[in-house]
Amino acid sequence: MFLFFFYDSFTPLFFFFSLLFLLSLPPGFPARPIPDPVTELTATQYDTWLNFTRFVDSSKGCHVTGMSELKKYFQRFGYLDPIPETNFTDSFDDRFENAVLSYQKNLGLAVTGKLDSDTVTQIISPRCGISDDKSRALHVTRHYAYFEGEPRWVRPSTPMNLSYAFSPDYTIDYLSQSDIDSVFQRAFSRWSAVIPVNFTPAEDYWTADIKIGFYHGDHGDGEPFDGVLGILAHAFSPENGKFHLDAAETWAVDFGSQKSKVAVDLESVATHEIGHVLGLAHTPVKEAVMYPSLSPRTKKVDLKLDDVEGVQALYGSNPNFKFSSLLESDTSSSWAVRLETISYMWPTYWVTIVLALTLCV
Ligand SMILES: [Zn+2]
Ligand SMILES: [Zn+2]
Repeated sequence: MFLFFFYDSFTPLFFFFSLLFLLSLPPGFPARPIPDPVTELTATQYDTWLNFTRFVDSSKGCHVTGMSELKKYFQRFGYLDPIPETNFTDSFDDRFENAVLSYQKNLGLAVTGKLDSDTVTQIISPRCGISDDKSRALHVTRHYAYFEGEPRWVRPSTPMNLSYAFSPDYTIDYLSQSDIDSVFQRAFSRWSAVIPVNFTPAEDYWTADIKIGFYHGDHGDGEPFDGVLGILAHAFSPENGKFHLDAAETWAVDFGSQKSKVAVDLESVATHEIGHVLGLAHTPVKEAVMYPSLSPRTKKVDLKLDDVEGVQALYGSNPNFKFSSLLESDTSSSWAVRLETISYMWPTYWVTIVLALTLCV
């Protein structure tokens, strides 16, 4: 009662001094900082990837300063065997050519062994943090793949029930939990429509089969995130269940309300990572959900034949699923842009580059 009286009596004074305080702040002081797209991007390790554009047209025999950084990228995604990073040279040698050949096969690119513009455009495209399978590329299978040993979830019931939950600690505050719930519900339902697996929200995070969280940087699993763009998310093979999203991304549930040029569609990434949770690795089929990269402000949520065949080979088919429903596939290839265009715009309007970056070849 006393506090109420005290506050009530001093309300005019309170507002007066509050107003004085606000007026004393620097002009334009916002309640929440509005991210400037350029600042947003330059303050990230993603710059390292963007600098790879200087290697366009390099081929075996070239020696370009800084190429060792690109070799680290190839090592990071499984194309060069792990060796101490200091041992990488700036020379485009036989070993690196083989890595480029494998990368091009795995990503469905023209297999030239050179760092042509399409290849470099693909390299700098934001992508999933899970490594690609270099060994598979040697056999040039042009479709879905699994993790080594083909692990899958095993449960006694049919349909199988898997529970999922969101970390109570590792969250983002600018999306509502109900929006996030809806996104994941839709993403899980796409997979459960084709296989006899049901996904249900769990009450308890710690006992859930699939544990989802938004993490910053090094978060203790040996797969650190890298800030805005670059690596977007990763999820582990069965039956690990860990599903991690880079908290530094501007995650979007609706591009109409989220205007950031570096916004990433949460539903598209969720659908892709659920594929990993189920046991699918990356595919070279550019239209498929399990293709490793995704451009900002792009939605790619519909499972394609390659995704469906891959996951059904692991779990069988949902009895209600009909292949005819997949026949209407979108074959949008208009995202492709040549690197010459990118170089022309560099660096002033390079935010636009990211928008235009291809998902694929
Ligand atoms: Zn992936
Ligand atoms: Zn992680």
